[in-house]
Amino acid sequence: MGTKGKSIIGIDLSELLTLLNKAFSDEWLAYYQYWIGSKIVKGPMKEAIIAELIQHSSDELRHSEMLTTRIIQLGGTPPIRPEDWYKLTNCGYDAPEDPFVRPVLEQNIKGEQCAISTYQNMLDITRDKDPITYNMVVQILQDEVEHEEDLQSLLEDLEVIMTTGAK
Ligand code: FE
Ligand code: FE
Ligand code: MG
Repeated sequence: MGTKGKSIIGIDLSELLTLLNKAFSDEWLAYYQYWIGSKIVKGPMKEAIIAELIQHSSDELRHSEMLTTRIIQLGGTPPIRPEDWYKLTNCGYDAPEDPFVRPVLEQNIKGEQCAISTYQNMLDITRDKDPITYNMVVQILQDEVEHEEDLQSLLEDLEVIMTTGAK
């Protein structure tokens, strides 16, 4: 990274890179959780839920792209081994062992809530210290807030369908 660009960062660079690498690992695991979920999910409202899962998987992949760009710009190296994602992740990976629509939605809502906390924490750390990372995190957080809302409203509709017995 350019020396002037680096000089405006008011926090410890290796600490910042650790946070970015951890978020990167979360995004890959979230991407895969959505992607595999979209392939195996079963039950009522399947079509609408699959469409949302696919859209979110591509958003998570785009987030990992944004994080990689910033990691490299800061002179870091993104995790080069998938096994490191598990060591670094904040939010983990929930395998959709029960592929019914409800547990799949619930697992992904939990993941989004963890992502929202993670990025909120990164905003607190970078505020007034690193405007570039801060701005990137704001963009990602906007998507995560939208993701949570999308999934919770699908879950609400699903509850209505399931309690009225309609398919
Ligand atoms: Fe994301
Ligand atoms: Fe998300
Ligand atoms: Mg969506």
